[in-house]
Amino acid sequence: MNIIVLVKQVPNTTKVKLDPKTGNLIREGLESIVNPDDLHAIEAAVRIKEETSAKVTALSMGPPQAVDALTQALGMGADKAILLCDRAFAGADTWATSLTLSRGIEKIGDYDLIICGHQAIDGDTAQIGPQVADWLNITQATYVNRIEKVTKKEIVVKRRIEEGFERISCQTPALLTVIKDLNEPRYAHMEKLINACTDKAPIKVWNAADIGVSTCDVGLEGSNTHVIKTFTPNFRRQNETLEGSKQEVVDKLFLRLKKSDTTIAHMF
Ligand SMILES: Cc1cc2nc3c(=O)[nH]c(=O)nc-3n(C[C@H](O)[C@H](O)[C@H](O)COP(=O)(O)OP(=O)(O)OC[C@H]3O[C@@H](n4cnc5c(N)ncnc54)[C@H](O)[C@@H]3O)c2cc1C
Repeated sequence: MNIIVLVKQVPNTTKVKLDPKTGNLIREGLESIVNPDDLHAIEAAVRIKEETSAKVTALSMGPPQAVDALTQALGMGADKAILLCDRAFAGADTWATSLTLSRGIEKIGDYDLIICGHQAIDGDTAQIGPQVADWLNITQATYVNRIEKVTKKEIVVKRRIEEGFERISCQTPALLTVIKDLNEPRYAHMEKLINACTDKAPIKVWNAADIGVSTCDVGLEGSNTHVIKTFTPNFRRQNETLEGSKQEVVDKLFLRLKKSDTTIAHMF
């Protein structure tokens, strides 16, 4: 069985700051980490590997430093890693990102299961998993919080839904997006981590030509959406202080409460 895990390197913050002029993420001074949900995806893949003879490949699209995220995946037990890295991939929206990842997956080939995080803490769209499954035309199960059965032909998972949980059986190849309830990610193994940092580390870097995509289909050029403006909404409330004795303040307050709901909502 062959498993591919999607691993995204993200800034270590959920409070993303944007450059007001360009609308781009301000990455300076921010430590990079493996997207938290992806640690659960790696852990799930490695546990399946330990129970079967599965091979695990970690795949990321990102700048050269995203190799650090792949190093961590190798340290946790992935067998090999591939970084999709090309200037042409920059500025991608989710459409272009998922297309690029899908082409990378097709080049890897012969996969039975793709596991990715439910959501990245920077982009936050939760679109990549479903989009990749769609590009590859394979079964998908989202919000997975338990993997109950894995065979070469079938995966049975429990997934969280609004009203509770759902148990579903998926035919392989399938893609799962996983949430943090799934497992407790292990720490990277020191020896594996050291091996992953050497020149002989099983990390390959593929560019646009390697995965057979035209540069106009990826990155900014291949994106269907473009950010026109990014801004932080102003949540400042309008305060009003009621003056007078305690009784006067209470009377004034009741008078105001008798007014429309809109006024009340405005006051609080
Ligand atoms: C209009 C628009 C313009 C954008 N422009 C830029 C830009 O100029 N520069 C820029 O850096 N970003 C840009 N982005 C953000 C970029 O598109 C997203 O970061 C990327 O598509 C992933 O989406 P997400 O972060 O919402 O991932 P989610 O869908 O929330 O992630 C779910 C899971 O998918 C997997 N995944 C996601 N991304 C990757 C990846 N790169 N490699 C491997 N696995 C992955 C992970 O397992 C992750 O847990 C833009 C987004 C939009 C919508």
